[in-house]
Amino acid sequence: MLRFNGLFLSLSVLFLGASSSSAQQYVQGEMIIKLKGTHSASKSKQFYGKMSSKISLKASFGGLNVHHMVLKPGQDMAASINELRQDPDVEYVEPNYLLSVIAPDKSDNRIFSTEEAMATVTASSTGSYSQSYAPVKVTEGWAAATVTSSVTPIVAVVDTGVDYTHTLFTTTGAIWTNPGETGTDSQGHNKASNSIDDDGNGYVDDVRGWNFVAGTNAPMDDDEHGTHVAGIILGVSQDIFASPLTAAKIRIMPLKFLNASGSGSTSDAISAIYYAVRNGANVINNSWGGSAYSQSLHDALAYAYNNRVTIVAAAGNATSNNDTTAMYPANYPVPSLISVAATTDSDTLASFSNYGRNYVHVGAPGSGIFSSVPGNAYRYMSGTSMAAPFVAGMAAMVFREAWNLTGYQVKNVITSTVNPITSLSTAVSTGGRVNDYNAVTAAKLNASISASQPVYVASAPSGYRAPSSDASSASGCGLVSALSAGGFGVGGGASGAGGASAVVVLMLLPLAVMLYVKKAAQREAHRNSRRQHERFVMNSSISLKVGDRELQGQVKTISEGGVSFCADSMLEKGGIITMMISSPDGSEQVQVQGHVVWNEQNGAYGVKFDEAKDSVLDHIRNWSRNLAKAS
Ligand code: CA
Repeated sequence: MLRFNGLFLSLSVLFLGASSSSAQQYVQGEMIIKLKGTHSASKSKQFYGKMSSKISLKASFGGLNVHHMVLKPGQDMAASINELRQDPDVEYVEPNYLLSVIAPDKSDNRIFSTEEAMATVTASSTGSYSQSYAPVKVTEGWAAATVTSSVTPIVAVVDTGVDYTHTLFTTTGAIWTNPGETGTDSQGHNKASNSIDDDGNGYVDDVRGWNFVAGTNAPMDDDEHGTHVAGIILGVSQDIFASPLTAAKIRIMPLKFLNASGSGSTSDAISAIYYAVRNGANVINNSWGGSAYSQSLHDALAYAYNNRVTIVAAAGNATSNNDTTAMYPANYPVPSLISVAATTDSDTLASFSNYGRNYVHVGAPGSGIFSSVPGNAYRYMSGTSMAAPFVAGMAAMVFREAWNLTGYQVKNVITSTVNPITSLSTAVSTGGRVNDYNAVTAAKLNASISASQPVYVASAPSGYRAPSSDASSASGCGLVSALSAGGFGVGGGASGAGGASAVVVLMLLPLAVMLYVKKAAQREAHRNSRRQHERFVMNSSISLKVGDRELQGQVKTISEGGVSFCADSMLEKGGIITMMISSPDGSEQVQVQGHVVWNEQNGAYGVKFDEAKDSVLDHIRNWSRNLAKAS
């Protein structure tokens, strides 16, 4: 129960503080509870019965044993949470935290009509497009993309809603429609308006997404934020200022959970995320956030990852370091989540942008971005809220070219094809700004790749390790690591603060291999060279340098041609890595460089040595004398 200590430490601060600002950080009287074990209607009912004098059920997140509860009048929230914490049926309980839109800079208050917007933006033929003049190679990406494709990736815009009546979206047909709520029912009525949940997904007439604020099927934008975000996403896939507009290659799924003031609850955010995943979204854009760690939100994003969805999150506009002041959801270490900083047209980190060499991954244009707003209009906005949808649109284009990639692999395509820029070198983990052309091209090279991925568990007791049956299968790695997920930052505390951390299990994934897919001949040469060397079973430690990160791992087998190993974290930026390998008795170390590959069959990484020096090979030969041959 260690991981709950931090939550309640934070809560006590929150309650003792009792200032008006802290009181606004959660919905008064509401909490999110996860019950232990698998979901069972009778067990849940028993629990509500037991607690009926104190709390009532507001909603359940179907099948997940996560419940949205409301305190009965007169109940004290802190006392109730403390009591629930002791309940043997409760896995976790947390306040229903409030989340906010990451408010953009709208100081350029000019509003353009569609005609004015099209006249303003005429530059697509020169390669410097429209929404941004940053060198992200969007027009080149269009040229490189497959002309016709049978897939139309879906991007969920979890935001203030989208003006789905905007001519940009109606002309292009870009708004997702739910196939289960279109056509006519058995009575001859239009399914979109028959007041029946035709597809049984829990939402009545949800023909184009959902409004979780009002509980209606009209996710209309009553701000400007979500419509601006949606226009940026669409604008990565096609020229949104062309006349005439062409048919959309991707779909936008509008999911409104932020109200007109830009505020929303965690319960609505997770409802939107579960809706997105269950209704086929491939990418989820999150241009919003908060400082409080929420296990239920982390669980929802883990669910998205486990369903192969790419998650994009804005890093925040506070000019702060996300490595020391956590921002969520950007900071959840979900493998398929990309945290995005904002850059300018001249390729510098935008002055307002958050950063973090561990928790922020890439930069994308977020300064002076021209996009759609409600009422068939367009305007400029600046913020990481604008940078994230650039990446979300790219993720959709990567999926379009390589449909079978996992969400994590799509992230890897994007993070591994950035252009390094000076002002991001220590500001984001890749040190670079995204490049759409590079990503689309890399995706096309990997169109035939299809891989399974291990399950990501968003929380686990401290020190959790894989069951040995998983870890020992073949040379596979199973669960390999426990990582800190960051503090329960009601006050925006530092991440990873000792006992206040949630523990997250990361597992190895097939990843960098696809970016380093060479021509078939080269691959064959690799295979042949591997066969030339006998492999020996090692179980010594290894330290890996990937960029400026240092990872730890275990060598499984070694040969003069390379090693297979398990690392304690995923390699977000693979390719060539430098390894420090310890001898089986720990007395010697050698440093060697090589190419990362992923062996799907063994479920382990491999590194093919590029230029192992003779002295290194001498060491390996010496060690091997006392080692068993690998089968
Ligand atoms: Ca429905």
